[in-house]
Amino acid sequence: MSRFLSERFCELCAYVPGEQPKDMEYIKLNTNESPYPPAPELMKTIDEKLLGNLRLYSDPECKRLREAIARENKVNLENVFLGNGSDEVLSFIFMAFCDKGERVSYPDISYGFYSVYSELYGLSKNEVPLKDDFSIDPSDYMNLNSTVVIANPNAPTGLCLSLEDIEKIAKSNPDNIVAIDEAYVDFGGKSSIELTKKHDNLLVVQTFSKSRSLAGARLGFAIGNEKLIADLEKLRYSTNPFNVNSISLALGIAALEGREYYDKRIQDIIRTREGSAQEMKSMGFELTDSRGNFLFARHPKLGGERLYSELRSRGILVRHFKKPRIDDYVRITIGTERQMETMLYALKEMLSI
Ligand code: PMP
Repeated sequence: MSRFLSERFCELCAYVPGEQPKDMEYIKLNTNESPYPPAPELMKTIDEKLLGNLRLYSDPECKRLREAIARENKVNLENVFLGNGSDEVLSFIFMAFCDKGERVSYPDISYGFYSVYSELYGLSKNEVPLKDDFSIDPSDYMNLNSTVVIANPNAPTGLCLSLEDIEKIAKSNPDNIVAIDEAYVDFGGKSSIELTKKHDNLLVVQTFSKSRSLAGARLGFAIGNEKLIADLEKLRYSTNPFNVNSISLALGIAALEGREYYDKRIQDIIRTREGSAQEMKSMGFELTDSRGNFLFARHPKLGGERLYSELRSRGILVRHFKKPRIDDYVRITIGTERQMETMLYALKEMLSI
């Protein structure tokens, strides 16, 4: 058969999502989803009226949810861009603000999609090595004259950059976009949203997938200067103005009303993270100081691949990245207290302790 795929995509390496096997019931600690259901407020949202209205297109302006996000984050409607998950928001950012062949800089160990989007949009990848302790050296990002994308907290390390450092990075690259991906910020990071009011090249990206237990609804957003948001809107309207469906829009609004519930679940996750980390340290694991809803760990006696496969054979899924420098590690999403107890018990068994 002839090749139909455009030449420019032949070498593209697609993103590989964490596995979702269906052969049995696993304890799923591999894709940083929340172990808790969404807030009770959401359960009443999908009613006959909403379902009946599915015959209509969703609101292309996503106005009510954008207003609610703006209120929550003390910005204006014009500062909020909504997408079908923050993956789509990031895709629009890479598409909008980098010309073909231009450099985009991000840490060499970070969220896999940055590299995929760079390739997809024909950009030149500047993968900046993390320090030996996996932290980001902010001085590596000064005066780069390139678009910068940084996850804060970073994934899969869970380590944070201070807001002072982010501000310095934004200031030193005034002619380029600095995008801060805050997918995990609610689990112990500090948000840069306030800084977007001072720095018109700074964009902050967040998601409803993690702390709001809505990964399946696909809701993500960016906050930044209204001119940047208008640029993103131009591309969204040129791609799919109905990118966020009516059910997810309604769920997003309800989720913002469930603040009290989510605050409690976030505290539960942080408490479980800290307890599990302590327990793993006592088993001889080395861990980063993760501020995400996950742990990043290695053990001197067990390689990453072995940890991953032995846990899998016990019905527990974690994430292993076959990548230099982090090959020894696994990333373990924080589950319920009970799920983590089972996981810790499995680790003890593997270590015969
Ligand atoms: N950024 C980071 C750092 C992530 O880990 C993820 C989720 N895997 C995302 C963005 C995308 O999340 P979503 O598309 O579900 O909003």
